[in-house]
Amino acid sequence: MYHKVAPRPAGSLVPHHYVSPKRFQAHVRALTRARFRAIRLEELDAEYENTDRVVNFSFDDGYENFATNALPVLRAAGMTATVFAVAELLGASNEWDTELGDVPERLMSSDGLRAATTMGIEIGSHSCTHKRLPTCDDDSMLHEVAQSKRILSAILGRDVPIFCYPYGAHDARVREAVRAAGYRAACGVGKGWNDKTTDQFQLKRVNVRSDTSGPLLFWKLLRQSRLR
Ligand SMILES: [Zn+2]
Repeated sequence: MYHKVAPRPAGSLVPHHYVSPKRFQAHVRALTRARFRAIRLEELDAEYENTDRVVNFSFDDGYENFATNALPVLRAAGMTATVFAVAELLGASNEWDTELGDVPERLMSSDGLRAATTMGIEIGSHSCTHKRLPTCDDDSMLHEVAQSKRILSAILGRDVPIFCYPYGAHDARVREAVRAAGYRAACGVGKGWNDKTTDQFQLKRVNVRSDTSGPLLFWKLLRQSRLR
């Protein structure tokens, strides 16, 4: 799980969310060397049958710096990724963070998302406005879950089957709404690997921070696979 691939600006409230472009290159290099194959999350079901090393790069929030700093590196390595976009804020910025005094970061536009999909990138939903869903009333929560799927599907001209809970926050009511809206799976922020026995509406991830080196990322992946 990544957030931003960019140099860390002064004043960031969550500096470890910024992975430098150089470091991201090191991650892709380390996983390439270790013969990991990158997949989209919509391929997960089929991939559970495989025993080779499979990884998914996920990028929360859909920052423009994914397109400028991560996408070219992934393409050069022949790897794909999943971008979780905030459907009603495309082309705007991370106002859920800036409200708290954080540094603004531009979010990908609808054109940018479309362009990314033509390069094999998967787009998932990260809600409409990045609200903490368990604290929303039913109407607002259902809107965030279902309307974001409709908006992104209309933009991309295809179904959007994967959801990602803002802040990794979910409960039984939210998970049921995500399932009822027609999603096939959803990511939280619980750590670990996923297999057939994992609740597909609580997919686990490995957190990647600004100080996660290439070898450390490789080690984190292996350690999580032993812990699952
Ligand atoms: Zn987010």
